[in-house]
Amino acid sequence: MLQPPPAEPGMREDEVDTPALLLDLDAFEHNLDTMAALLAPTSVKLRAHAKTHKSPVIARMQMARGAIGQCVQKVAEAEALVWGGVPDVMVTNQVVGARKLARLAALAKVARVSICADDPAHVDAIEAAAEAAGVRIPVLVEIDVGAARCGVQPGPPAVALAQRIAASRHLSFGGIQAYHGSAQHIRTPEGRATAIRAASEEARRTVEQLRQQGLECPVVGGAGTGTFAHELASGVYTELQAGSYALMDADYARNEEAPPFQHALFVLATVMSAATPHIAVLDAGHKAMPTDSGYPLVWGREGVRYVGASDEHGKLTVEDPALRPRLGEKLRLVPGHCDPTVDRYDWYVGVRKGRVECLWPVAARGGMA
Ligand code: PLP
Ligand code: MN
Repeated sequence: MLQPPPAEPGMREDEVDTPALLLDLDAFEHNLDTMAALLAPTSVKLRAHAKTHKSPVIARMQMARGAIGQCVQKVAEAEALVWGGVPDVMVTNQVVGARKLARLAALAKVARVSICADDPAHVDAIEAAAEAAGVRIPVLVEIDVGAARCGVQPGPPAVALAQRIAASRHLSFGGIQAYHGSAQHIRTPEGRATAIRAASEEARRTVEQLRQQGLECPVVGGAGTGTFAHELASGVYTELQAGSYALMDADYARNEEAPPFQHALFVLATVMSAATPHIAVLDAGHKAMPTDSGYPLVWGREGVRYVGASDEHGKLTVEDPALRPRLGEKLRLVPGHCDPTVDRYDWYVGVRKGRVECLWPVAARGGMA
């Protein structure tokens, strides 16, 4: 059930009900502008990943700055974007199930919708859905470039799958998906560079082998916020899929030579208890924020640390009791991991210089696949 928004335009930030998902609009626009400026002089395009923001409003802001479309991870996200007016969506993932594929094919009537496959069974199921809907769907071959998650092996297995796609009457060969997920949070810059050098080589080799078989590869997609500069420089990738860059989180800030983006996403929380010396307790625990990538950072408060979460409590310790946050005070937290944090909220509360400016629904939130 959609909850009422925790704020209204014009309110002061400290009047926003908590826990709330804050978007600092100055930092957010800085992030969108920075990525757009980095890509503008190149022929490489941004296809931003919407699994981070889950919002057609944000998607359209990215596209107004040059992004050619959006990536999604699942059909429900594709639906929310297309219903919100996004004209080009790529599912960077495998989708299994005739009902889901029928929903995706229905979207292909009103938007450009592409999808990935790493098995002949995916190809045949997408072909059946496309035929039933009377649409033609571009399908990309996902290759494993080192993350050992999804994807066929580069080279001949990828070529064989591409040939099967090209031979399907209602599909077109859309290119290769070569995302190296586990490289994103390798802490050292050398480690990230080495991983993407290897990934780019695998992608390059596969493109050449496709060409030898008469298949031009229209798209080589991949890259995230941690490594995109390397895919950009590779000369192999044509579309970058960074998502977190727009919001940034505490875990990306822990990369050495962290990406050039500002923290724009916060969870606003209220101190609900200060009964124990050196401790303050917030109304934001596990249910307000996932902690898979560590506890949040307390924004702008030296010596105050978030040290423990339970379902509805977030425990802070303070070095200097004189600086302990007061009962009722509202604090900004930088989430450890932005994507699943966004998914916990119905609304973005857009703030600028201490005032609420806008409320945007997190339209694609929730568990539906
Ligand atoms: N592309 C794919 C296929 C992904 O799975 C992800 C994230 O896991 C991304 C791009 C974007 O990564 P990030 O949010 O780290 O920029
Ligand atoms: Mn993530």
